[in-house]
Order: sequence, then structure tokens, then C-alpha cells
Amino acid sequence: MEGRPQWKVDVLGWLTESLEELDRQSLRRTRRCRTSSQGRTIWLDGRELLNFGSNDYLGLASDPRLITAVRNSLEKEGWGSGASALVCGRSSAHAALEEALAKFEGCEAALLFPTGFAANVGTIAALVGPGDAVYCDRKNHASIIDGCKLSRADLRVFPHADVDTLDQLLAKPHRHRRRLVVTDTLFSMDGDLAPIAQLVEVCERHGVILMVDEAHATGVFGKRGRGVVEFYGVEDRVPVRVGTLSKAMGSVGGFVVGSTHLVEWLVQKARPYMFSTALPGAACYAAMAALEIIEREPHRREVVLERAEFLREVLRREAWDVGRSTSQIIPVIVHQPETALLLSRFLESRGFFVPAIRPPAVPDNEACLRISVTFHHQTSDLQRLVETLGEARRRLGLGDT
Ligand SMILES: *Cc1c(COP(=O)(O)O)cnc(C)c1O
Repeated sequence: MEGRPQWKVDVLGWLTESLEELDRQSLRRTRRCRTSSQGRTIWLDGRELLNFGSNDYLGLASDPRLITAVRNSLEKEGWGSGASALVCGRSSAHAALEEALAKFEGCEAALLFPTGFAANVGTIAALVGPGDAVYCDRKNHASIIDGCKLSRADLRVFPHADVDTLDQLLAKPHRHRRRLVVTDTLFSMDGDLAPIAQLVEVCERHGVILMVDEAHATGVFGKRGRGVVEFYGVEDRVPVRVGTLSKAMGSVGGFVVGSTHLVEWLVQKARPYMFSTALPGAACYAAMAALEIIEREPHRREVVLERAEFLREVLRREAWDVGRSTSQIIPVIVHQPETALLLSRFLESRGFFVPAIRPPAVPDNEACLRISVTFHHQTSDLQRLVETLGEARRRLGLGDT
């Protein structure tokens, strides 16, 4: 073989320019390296920072009880599952967790997926296809949007949380075989709740399927931690509910709960379930330990939501725009990506990790800092954060953002 032929074009040459373009728009992502477990503080790129960037809302990711559960499972389970659930990847750990999740959520059955992302994509594409329609909130998570696209059902995007517009869209004459409405229950960047009770009413009236994604709400919302559907008292009226084990539950994996028939259908048709390796059994044991803690220690979620409320009040008093947040996720909306980056960097120089969120994670002009309040945070941590934000505003000459 001689060297590279003269005529050969650099087929990836466009990457150089495209990456530079992302830099110019302040949209280039850089990756950090964490050298500690999740907790009140984390070590990132060699510095210890107060951690406001994690979805480990209940502080379970490093809980000794989860770690013990994992450790004890390894002898029996080994580490890798070795196959998809349908072949021989599904062990007694998966079966036990599915049963525990169904019981916890008050449903007939549950199905585990490798991730929450896979649960959304797989479930949507298994429920609707060509000839069907799917109605999607504009601010839904990327995995929901990708699931809608992949399904090849007609996609209708409705304005964020706008039940009246959805109602009008559903009332139009149509020739679709099946129709599905899908929404986050707790929106991951804005921290607001979907109007689930109204969505339930509209979906029931039009006879369409409602699917909700409780990724950020499981364990945090509802008296027993079942999520926003429990918070609004409509658990029994939402036929398809997705959740993740990887946020408040401190493990990894996704799940769907609903009727026995729903789960049986997904086993047959959800491709990420069929063609992806089952979770490590150890992840299931961690999730089972987390479920027990969620049931036995409701004060964890109460504390998180109280502290978040406190932080929102203080931020508002200091004239920061926290949008429509009513949860443990609090955006500080600054609109411009460069402003979000400047603030994030300033906070980091003072020992706080608060990620800057930029398009495409949020719509253009909605760049923000995204503060996650967790069980680990002390009130004094929150006060210091607000003080430092004030200092940033003065130092950076931001005026009113
Ligand atoms: C994080 C997230 C997911 C994906 O869950 P993973 O388990 O992390 O793959 C799905 N939906 C929403 C709303 C999320 O925020």
C-alpha cells in the first residue's frame, strides 16, 4: 500500500470549520473530568466545587446502602448481563426490580430499559407508527422528540403546556389510526410542571393515549414519591408512565409502568428493549435499595422541595429571572449563551459548579444557569450561591439580565 492517493478528499474536513463556528456562537461543549463521587461537593478538573449540577436529587448515588446492595450482588450476578433481556440478559434482579417498581407505582407491570432515553424512544415508536399521530410539547426532552421522529407518526408540536391549543389540535377531523400525547411531567430545564390534570381530561375526552415522562419527578414529587401524577392525584388515569433510575434513584436505567398488556406489547415491539443489553444486575439492586429509601424516608423529598422554594424566593428578591420553576430545578434565565457561560465561569472561580445551559438544550434566547437543589445542600450553601451571583452581576457589569 502506498501513502494517501493525491485525489483522496478529506471527507471530514468540514469538521474543523463547524467546530470553530460552534466556538464563535458560544455553543461549543467541553467535557469535564470528575474525580469524586456525587455529593454536596464534587471534584471537577482537579478542583473541589459545591455541586449544583447533579440530578442526584435525593443524595442516593453515593448512599452507603446502595453501595452495599451493589457489592453484595456482585458475587451472584457478576457485572455484565451478557445479552439482551429477551435472550438471557434478564436475571432475577431485573424481575425483582420490575415487580418492585410496579408495586411502588401502583401499576400492574413495569419494564426495565437500559436508560431512560431508550425507554422513551422505544415506547413511543412501539405505540405509534406511520398512519398515527403524536402530539409533543415543544419543551419535551430530546429523547421524546427523537422517539416521535423515529416512530414516523405524524408529529404535531404544541406550545409549551398549552392545553387549549392541544385540545383544538385534537378536535380537528383526522384519519389517524391511533393518537398519542406525550409530555415531560417536570420539565428538565425550566423546572415547571406540566398541567397533567388538564392533559388527562383532554386526552380522555378525545380518546387518545397519554404518555408522561417522570424522569426528574420520580422520588421527588408526590406523597409517596411516585411523581407529578401522584402530586396531582391522577396516577390511575395516565396509561403510559416512563421514569428513570438514574436521577433521584441514584442508579442507572429507565422504566415504563402501566398495564400488563402494555408491558407485554413493549417486550414484543420496543427495539431498544429487544436489541440492547440488559442493565447490569447490580444496577437493579442499587435501584431496589433506592426504592426502599424513597418509601421509608419521605423527609428527603420534603427537604429538597422546601430548600428549592427558599432558593427561588431569595433569587426572586434579588431580581433574578427564575422563570416558571416550581421544583428542585431552578433556571436563572439570562438569555444570551455568552452571559450564561460568563456567569458559570465566575461561579466556578468562586467554588460553585452551576452549569450553563445553551441551545439546543433550550430554545434560542433562553440560555440559563441551571441550578439543581439536592438533599445535600444546606441553607447556607444556597445563601452563599445567591451572594456570589450578586457579586458576579456587579463584577461582570451585567445590570438587569
Ligand atoms: C434525563 C432524562 C431522560 C433520560 O434518562 P436517562 O436515564 O438519563 O437516559 C429522559 N427524559 C427526561 C425528561 C430526562 O430529563
